[in-house]
Amino acid sequence: MSNSHLPEHIIRPEILALSAYHVPPAAGMIKLDAMENPYPLSAELRDEIAQLAANAPVNRYPDASAALLKEKLRQTLAISDDIDILLGNGSDEIIQIIAMAVAKPDAVLISVEPSFVMFRMIATFANIQYVGVPLKQDFSLDMDAMLAAIVKYKPAVIFLAYPNNPTGNLFDYAEIISILQTTSGIVVIDEAYQAFADVSFINELNHYPNLLLMRTLSKSGLAGLRLGLLLGRSEWLIQLEKMRLPYNIGIMTQIIAEKVLHHTLVLAEQAQAIKLERTKMSTFLSTIENVKVYPSKANFILFRIHAATQIFQALKQHKILIKNLDGTHPLLENCLRVTIGTPDENSQFCSTLQTILSKTV
Ligand code: PMP
Repeated sequence: MSNSHLPEHIIRPEILALSAYHVPPAAGMIKLDAMENPYPLSAELRDEIAQLAANAPVNRYPDASAALLKEKLRQTLAISDDIDILLGNGSDEIIQIIAMAVAKPDAVLISVEPSFVMFRMIATFANIQYVGVPLKQDFSLDMDAMLAAIVKYKPAVIFLAYPNNPTGNLFDYAEIISILQTTSGIVVIDEAYQAFADVSFINELNHYPNLLLMRTLSKSGLAGLRLGLLLGRSEWLIQLEKMRLPYNIGIMTQIIAEKVLHHTLVLAEQAQAIKLERTKMSTFLSTIENVKVYPSKANFILFRIHAATQIFQALKQHKILIKNLDGTHPLLENCLRVTIGTPDENSQFCSTLQTILSKTV
């Protein structure tokens, strides 16, 4: 191979500089690291799905427009006819579609920090300049900094996760509205955790022409299917649809998601159980001395604890996997994030943490 064929000479330098998104191995672990719904589907539903899967024409391409699934989503989420839906292979893919669509040579994508790391990574993939505006110490929006960044960078798009990951809080509604009113670009509200938050910007789609809303089924029990949604006015979605790869939603995802959406009551009950457990976990964590628990409207809790990295490692040795955020951002020093699991998983997490702390003190 001649020297000029080396990846260093061919791949873009900003890609060479990236580290791949790290997914830690989790076999045999109590998995409380990735905001999954801990409840499997019922045996009856799995049997029905097995039948559907057996009869699925996998030799054919799937319906490129996923019409049946979209119709079911429209009914389930009560989406009015004047709002369009775009489907993605997870909401990650939708972020990518939006970033690629707006990536003019001098375009800027703004988000806040700390937030979902894929906003920054995908900006890099799409070759669009990324600006991360730091949140305040309490993880609320720094409106002075946000408004200054909007004036300075004139962003093509602003991504805000509502609730935010990894902090779990909801930003102030009125502040987001004022961002929507100030920017001349798009604002994408990422409602990945909406099932646990009970609030939404969905009714604002009729009021703000530059608002797009993202949802996902990943946190509500279907992470393995990979299905994300973008809701917005047709003038935007007609353009973004052009960038969606024709068969991005496979046949299994289409038929299984459609089937499961007939059982939204079950999903809602699971979300309710997760919210109850969230209260219990957060009460438990607040009773530990020198632990700061941050309020959460999502299916995870962020907390700050002395020697977080050691605690994270010790939990891992006890086969409990959570997320270590220490060192990922200055505001997250000594922070850990635990996803709410089943009552049994949560009590194992709590008792193991207590054991670890009693040994380290
Ligand atoms: N947005 C936020 C805020 C998230 O935390 C995540 C998942 N961690 C996603 C989007 C991606 O979800 P999906 O599985 O739909 O790609």
